[in-house]
Amino acid sequence: MLPVVALVGRPNVGKSTLFNRLTNSRDALVADYPGLTRDRKYGQAKYEGLQFIVVDTGGISGDEQGIDAEMAEQSLLAIDEAHVVLFLVDARAGLTPADIGIANHLRKQEKTVYVVANKVDGIDGDSETAEFYSLGLGEISQVAAAHGRGVTQLLEKSLKPL
Ligand code: GDP
Ligand code: MG
Repeated sequence: MLPVVALVGRPNVGKSTLFNRLTNSRDALVADYPGLTRDRKYGQAKYEGLQFIVVDTGGISGDEQGIDAEMAEQSLLAIDEAHVVLFLVDARAGLTPADIGIANHLRKQEKTVYVVANKVDGIDGDSETAEFYSLGLGEISQVAAAHGRGVTQLLEKSLKPL
């Protein structure tokens, strides 16, 4: 079975954008409407000869009801079946209560989690991402999924141990 990498995070942080970059596909719906990807979505990706499965999720926003509850359920299932979790946060928006809620959940899991601060294009990455250390999940990887910046380094770090 191929290693499974789950992309998790609140809506609009850039999960589908990263998914599309990793899988070279346009299949996941990327939109300015938070939460459009409602179900888990799987794609195949390859990095330096290592094949892996990427799972995109609709996102977790914290206080879930209705369709949001369904999305959150999908995200929790994706975490369960993953070998590695890439927990995306938005470097431009900064730390939000939803990020803290997700971190609290992830800290209870026996999963390898990497915090990924997306959208560092055009901002001072080091200073804008420092607050995410308070999530208590270790080092923060800086990426700009829309432009590909930092993605190779992220894969190098997160896939090597698999
Ligand atoms: P999701 O809800 O987590 O799947 O987020 P999406 O991938 O749909 O992206 C949400 C919004 O963020 C879209 O408008 C994207 O174009 C934008 N976005 C994604 N990645 C980046 C990035 O690296 N830089 C910037 N500036 N915007 C981004
Ligand atoms: Mg999405």
